[in-house]
Order: sequence, then C-alpha cells, then structure tokens
Amino acid sequence: MSTPYYHQVGQEVIVFEHAYKNKIPFLLKGPTGTGKSRFIEFMSHKLGKKLITIACHEETSSTDLIGRYIIKGAETIWMDGPLTKAVKEGAIIYLDEIAEARPDVIVAIHSLTDHRRELYIDKLGETIKAHEDFTLVASFNPGYQRGFKELKPSTRQRFVALAFDYPETKVEVEILTNEAGIDNDLAKKLVNIASKIRNLTELGLTETVSTRLLVDAAKLIHTGLPKRLAVHVAIVEPLTDDLETVAALKDLTDLMI
Ligand code: ADP
Repeated sequence: MSTPYYHQVGQEVIVFEHAYKNKIPFLLKGPTGTGKSRFIEFMSHKLGKKLITIACHEETSSTDLIGRYIIKGAETIWMDGPLTKAVKEGAIIYLDEIAEARPDVIVAIHSLTDHRRELYIDKLGETIKAHEDFTLVASFNPGYQRGFKELKPSTRQRFVALAFDYPETKVEVEILTNEAGIDNDLAKKLVNIASKIRNLTELGLTETVSTRLLVDAAKLIHTGLPKRLAVHVAIVEPLTDDLETVAALKDLTDLMI
C-alpha cells in the first residue's frame, strides 16, 4: 500500500515518533475533519506498524474492545476483540472519539496506559502483558462548551497530547490540490470561503467548516458538479439546519466562487 498523503502542519511527526519510542499513549485533540485520523494512518505507515481503528460511540463498551464468547455450532468460543489483538500483536490502536465511549472503556485501558502495560480480561480471569510495540492512540474533540463529552483529568494525564486545528491557508490550499486534484485558484477560493465562515462566530455553529468538508466540495467540483451547488451541498448544508443561516451562507458563498 502506498503511503497515505499527509501534509505536516506543525511538530506532530517528531512528537509522535518520540512518544512511540517511549511507548507513551498519545492523544490527538481537535475538531472533526482536521486530519487526526489521516495523521495516524500516515504515522503507522511510516513506522511500518499495523493500525487498528475503533470509531467509538455511546454504545462502545469494554466488551467490544476486549472480546467476547460467541456460539459456533455446539461450541462456545472466545474471540479476542480489537484491543486484545493489538495488545498481543504489538499494533497501534486508535480509539477515535474516545470520550464518546462508555465509562468501562476508560477503566479497561487504565492498566495499559501506565507502567503496567497490561490488559485484564475479566471474562477469562486473565491478565496479558502488552507486546513491546503496542501503542495506544486516542482522539478527542474538546468542544465541551457545546455539549460534547469531556475527558476526565485522571484519564487525560495518561497521554501526551497534541492539538490539531484548521491549517493555515497555504497548507490547506495544498491539501485541497493534492486530495481533489483541483487547481490552485479554485483551492484558494474554497479556503477563503472556509476562513470567512470560520470567522463568523456570531452564527453559533456547533462545528465550523472543516478541511474534510472543503475536500468534499473540491472533489465534487473536480468531477464536474457546478461550483456553487457543490459548495451548497458539501459546505453549507452539513453545517446547520437553521433555514435562515443556510440561506445567508448560500448567498455569501455564491459571491465568493
Ligand atoms: P479527523 O480524524 O480529524 O476527523 P480526518 O483525518 O478524517 O479528520 O481528515 C478529514 C480529511 O481532511 C482527510 O480525509 C483529508 O482529505 C483531509 N485532511 C485534513 N488534514 C489533512 C492533512 N494535514 N494532510 C492531508 N489531508 C488532510
């Protein structure tokens, strides 16, 4: 597989390499669509390590991660979950949006995130030592003022943490040209639209325009969808359902592209 495209935005590569060497758990903080998942795909590839990703949601439990008994024919057999596999094989596990998961997930990873580096499998009554290459990475969206879940200090302080944010204009333009194959001028226009909307804090949007939305708009335009329509459906509509805000943003973006 070819290396995933990732444009470095700060010191994240070197910081991750050192955290990896020291086997310190790593926390990627930042709003959705800012390249956290792409970064970890890129780093796993660079380090030549297998990556196991779990998209956490409110139903994600420790059983989903550690494993369960399943019935196969007349037998009941144990199936390792993705975390147990990663612990045994020395893979990188990426718990995307960890704060969304049930509290027992946080409890389950505690002994893996300190000097013990072991996983307790309660259903088997077994404790397993992590492979020396095992590394735990999690992401977290610190939008707590707006109703997102928080991560307790006692959990956060088990990680080295790096903040991800929307990249500066030049970098974001490059990401769009690389990801969607559009030209520089068009990429600049899309980034300008994003900057404008990101600065409209008075709109009170839960989340503003992410690089992901820009990439989507750029791809639609690249395959021939009219520009304004692409911006409406890929950038404006996903942001809000408030009709007045949608109308105002469509007017604004039509003038910019
Ligand atoms: P997150 O995990 O933060 O929600 P992703 O990693 O899925 O975000 O990024 C969303 C999309 O944005 C990616 O698929 C990629 O197209 C683009 N992207 C964002 N930041 C970068 C970057 N620094 N380098 C390359 N692509 C990026």
